Amino acid sequence: MRQKPPIDSCGGEPVDTLSRRALLRAGVLGAGAMSVGGVLTLPGTAHAAPAIYHPFGGYSITCSWECHLARGSAGGVDFGMGVGTALPACGAGTVQNIAYNGNAGHTVTIHHGEGWRSQYLHLSQFSLANNTYVGAGTIVGLSGGAAGAPGSGSSTGPHLHWHMLDPNGNYVNPLVYIGSNPGGRQVYEAASNAGWRALPVSGSGGAVMASGLAVINVSGTKIIYSSNGGQIFEAASSTGWRNMSTGIQGAQGTALAALNLNGEKLIYSVVGGYVHEASSNNGWRNLNSGIGGVGTSSIAAIALGGVKYVYSIVGGYVHEAHSANGWRNLNTGVPGQAVAAITLGTTKILYVLNGGSVYEAASNAGWANVWTGISGVGGGSIAALNLAGEKLIYTTSGNYVFEASSYNGWRNLNSGVRGSTAAVLSNGGVKLIYAA
Ligand SMILES: [Zn+2]
Repeated sequence: MRQKPPIDSCGGEPVDTLSRRALLRAGVLGAGAMSVGGVLTLPGTAHAAPAIYHPFGGYSITCSWECHLARGSAGGVDFGMGVGTALPACGAGTVQNIAYNGNAGHTVTIHHGEGWRSQYLHLSQFSLANNTYVGAGTIVGLSGGAAGAPGSGSSTGPHLHWHMLDPNGNYVNPLVYIGSNPGGRQVYEAASNAGWRALPVSGSGGAVMASGLAVINVSGTKIIYSSNGGQIFEAASSTGWRNMSTGIQGAQGTALAALNLNGEKLIYSVVGGYVHEASSNNGWRNLNSGIGGVGTSSIAAIALGGVKYVYSIVGGYVHEAHSANGWRNLNTGVPGQAVAAITLGTTKILYVLNGGSVYEAASNAGWANVWTGISGVGGGSIAALNLAGEKLIYTTSGNYVFEASSYNGWRNLNSGVRGSTAAVLSNGGVKLIYAA
């Protein structure tokens, strides 16, 4: 039996016949092209997919993608929200306002580049002039949708309708797109002195999104380094988290580390199997350290006695290289898929994720690999912190960040902070989790 559409339904957007033709064209692209959950992926395409995040996770879906298709709509997802709700851009791009756009009503199109677009429908108000360039998270308009209101189009109740369009004009489910292009996960900050309440990190430069994540503290300023679509960005608490490109390109995977060495900010990433180092003192020129054979999932960096140490995963083992030996990369013998590092006095300590369990190895014990008792770790992310002698480990499982302390026998507790990758720092005794 066919269900009645919910009261706040779109009323059905017009089916775009052009996009149907484009869909047919896409269907004859030939071997290699495949459709994954409605997202057309072309192997070897030169165009990078834009980084998109989900700004509406706090609202309930009142009509799903399938619900739209069942109504004869070309596609979309509806989120229930009161009229006048601020609508953040789901990704960077150029804004185009289309007033009274038929059934869609007032429509904002965000042109993300390379032909990718997002559209928000049934708005009550536009916020920006045409051709304004926005970062992710910038408010582009106010929601609407009340029946009969100006700009509502055919909508019969307050809500936001969101869909994406690919370069061929095919309708794309944004939630499926985000799932297939995880470069766009938004970064949240949670502080231990606020009960780990996680707040999205965004400022005038838009939301901070990351596939790889590293954080440092420079004289009380919290700095986030994020890799997104192969580029590395910097956002600082002292400038309202304005997210700026460092100009560093080519960073691969989730391997990203950062270091504060006497005020010099250093970023470590993996490019083509080699660890690269960029410094704020050299204008973020990304230089090949010569450390080769490195995986793209995880690296860590610490400083001790003015020497920089980088830990990377080579062939399933943690390797150590330091600036005082010309970055010669030596096998510690510690197996693992991800690594975090801290210093405790003059001892270097590694925390390694291997097969869902966390191990500890210390330089003053010949890197002897000891199980902490922490197991059941689901993600591939590990972070660690030395807080006045207390050793702390952060891992992820089931899309939550867990914390274990050497003071509680490494009991691994759910912080309640959501995320599948995490980084940590301390500031004035407060622990801060950054998760995406
Ligand atoms: Zn809709």
